[in-house]
Amino acid sequence: MKNIGLFGGTFDPPHNGHLHIARAFANELNLDMAVFLPAGDPYHKTANTRTPAKHRLAMTELAACADSRFAVSDCDIVRKGATYTFDTIQIFRQQFPTARLWWLIGSDNLLQLHTWKKWQTLVKQTHMAVAVRTGGSLAQVPRELQSWLGQALQKGSLQLLQAPPCNISSTEIRRRLRHSESTAGMIDTQVAAYIARHNLYR
Ligand code: ATP
Repeated sequence: MKNIGLFGGTFDPPHNGHLHIARAFANELNLDMAVFLPAGDPYHKTANTRTPAKHRLAMTELAACADSRFAVSDCDIVRKGATYTFDTIQIFRQQFPTARLWWLIGSDNLLQLHTWKKWQTLVKQTHMAVAVRTGGSLAQVPRELQSWLGQALQKGSLQLLQAPPCNISSTEIRRRLRHSESTAGMIDTQVAAYIARHNLYR
């Protein structure tokens, strides 16, 4: 059976923390493929502070060259209207009917899971793997998620990444770039060159 990891994110920009956890997920879950899924441009045009999707997609493609198991899909970018993880999973399920699908996620996002469209169905249709991250302690699980989380950990449909955490964030990288501070070791050199060429995050 194929094991496929689906890794959703804004990737604004993609950084070495993303690559570190994607590689660790691939190793620990024995993934055949980890598919990075950059989010689309915001559905509502108000307060659009996100870098345009075409740049985030291009940067994610550059970053994903780091490992032959990594792939990038534009499926959350080309879909019209609001895009929900639930729908993304249906698309991959149709494409890979017999594969085991893993939704790869940082713990800060996992703690919001109960706000996602049809989350209870979603967790039955996919396995989940979580990378613990500063500010996302699993000791602070919202009440709505507590019983699912306990059962899923026991059944193995939710796995915790064993690799050591890595505290890089896109927010910190954007802040450094705005202030012309070094991002050495935080982003891939090809991504850094793309950012400089397109004058992003100034
Ligand atoms: P921002 O700082 O803009 O919120 P981010 O660094 O969290 O961005 P995203 O693209 O939003 O990056 O993250 C995509 C996914 O990767 C999310 O599930 C997030 O929790 C996870 N993630 C990002 N960076 C890390 C990290 N350093 N450790 C563990 N998980 C991470």
